[in-house]
Order: sequence, then C-alpha cells, then structure tokens
Amino acid sequence: MTETLNFESILLPGIEAKRPLIMAGPCSAETEEQVLETAKGLATQGIKIFRAGIWKPRTKPGGFEGVGTEGLAWLKKVKETTGMYTATEVANQHHVFEALKHGIDILWVGARTTANPFAVQEIADALKGVDIPILIKNPVNPDLELWIGAIERIYNAGLHRIGAIHRGFSSYDKRLYRNLPQWHIPIELRRRLPNLPIICDPSHIGGKRDLVAPLCQQAMDMGFDGLIIESHCNPDCAWSDKNQQITPDVLNFILNMLVIRETTQ
Ligand code: PEP
Ligand code: MN
Repeated sequence: MTETLNFESILLPGIEAKRPLIMAGPCSAETEEQVLETAKGLATQGIKIFRAGIWKPRTKPGGFEGVGTEGLAWLKKVKETTGMYTATEVANQHHVFEALKHGIDILWVGARTTANPFAVQEIADALKGVDIPILIKNPVNPDLELWIGAIERIYNAGLHRIGAIHRGFSSYDKRLYRNLPQWHIPIELRRRLPNLPIICDPSHIGGKRDLVAPLCQQAMDMGFDGLIIESHCNPDCAWSDKNQQITPDVLNFILNMLVIRETTQ
C-alpha cells in the first residue's frame, strides 16, 4: 500500500517541503529567556521554523526531562515576537492535545516513539481530523519497515502534510557518530515513498558540533529536502545535548557555506 501514499509538498503557508527546508532551535526549551534569545538570533539569520523540545525523552532518570506545558507559552511568544513557525516533539495524546491547544505549527515524533507502534497509534488517533504538518523521525533501531509503518499510521489518520527526519540509528560504537547515519536506509525510504520529504538531523547523528557542517553537506549532496539543526544561544550551558548545539551565528555560517547542487530526484 505504501506506493499509493500521496504527501503534500507545502507544509505551511510560504513553506515548501523542498530543498533546503531549514528548521533550527534548541534541543530543549529551558527558560523563557533562553528560548526568546535563541529565537531572536535565528530569526535575524532568516530561519523561519523554530524547534524546541518541551517534553524530553532522556535515557536515564534524574536528568532534565523538559519544562513541560509551561514551555508552550514561550513558543507562542516566539511566534508573536519573531513571526517564526514553531515545532515541538509529541510522544503521547496529552502532548498532542496540549500542543494543539497552544497553537504549535508543526509536530514531530521522536525516534524512541517511532519505535513503539502503540504510542504512534495513540498519537495518530489523537490527530484524527486535524490538519497539521508532522515529521516522523526514524526509529532508534535500523528498521525501515517500522519507520514506514509509523508514517502509514499517521497518514491513515488523515494527515498528508508529512515529512520524515533521518537522525541516525543507535549503536554501541559511538567513536565517531552518536547515531550511525546508515544513509542507505533513508535512501531506500526515498525509493519506497518518492514524494515524501526527508529532512536530515545532523545534530543527533553526529552528536558533536564539528560534525554538523559536513553532515549537512552530505545530506544535501544525497538529495535530502531539508535540515533540522539544534541551535542554542549559549551551547556550553545547554541543559541537554550541549556538545552538538551551535549558536545561531555559527549556524548561519554553516548554511552559507553549503553547496546546494541540483539532483535528479
Ligand atoms: C530531539 O530532536 O530533541 C530528540 C530528542 O531527538 P531524537 O528523538 O532523534 O533522539
Ligand atoms: Mn537533542
């Protein structure tokens, strides 16, 4: 059935899910000041979509698990003060209802959630009859069918503004990449679902600032449609994923250096 899925290429007014779609923002919303300062910096660089995690799936308990619903009001302020669209991660029905109530523009499903069909179905059921763009990260494990299955569950709920995010796959060996890119998997996804926009997340693949630029270039060379990049006004002090976050200025530098070649896809 996957061959018959028909995705829309316009995600939001003025935003085509075409090369290169750029989304940026901190791993986590930490404080209102951090959110607004980062957003202002990104808006100045021309970024149109602001990402920030409100509910954070952390590997171990005891760490910062996100500010929760309170942070949604900060994202609303980002929208009001910068005009940027806002995006956040949802992992259950409660998250979906709260995000919709607070006017979030784009939702994304995280890698740990995509790996769980019960959770994806719960999100799909909560979104029945709602027309909102949604991005589905690959599952943490290198399972293309599970990734496509999650996309189908959301599609079957009536959502057609869908994109995929390639954020790499968990492995025990973290010497170079935090999550192995295994590029052949998103490339096979493109072959299976040719009109599905695919966005690369170099921040979670690399896990280090130095790898963001080369991974962005590689993704563009392979014909990906966009990039989602973690950016923080003060990366060294970030409450999560500090080693991979870059300032809005560095992000701008990286984006300006990118060579976007025509692809045949
Ligand atoms: C994130 O984007 O902040 C995140 C938690 O990513 P992932 O689900 O890819 O680990
Ligand atoms: Mn992160």
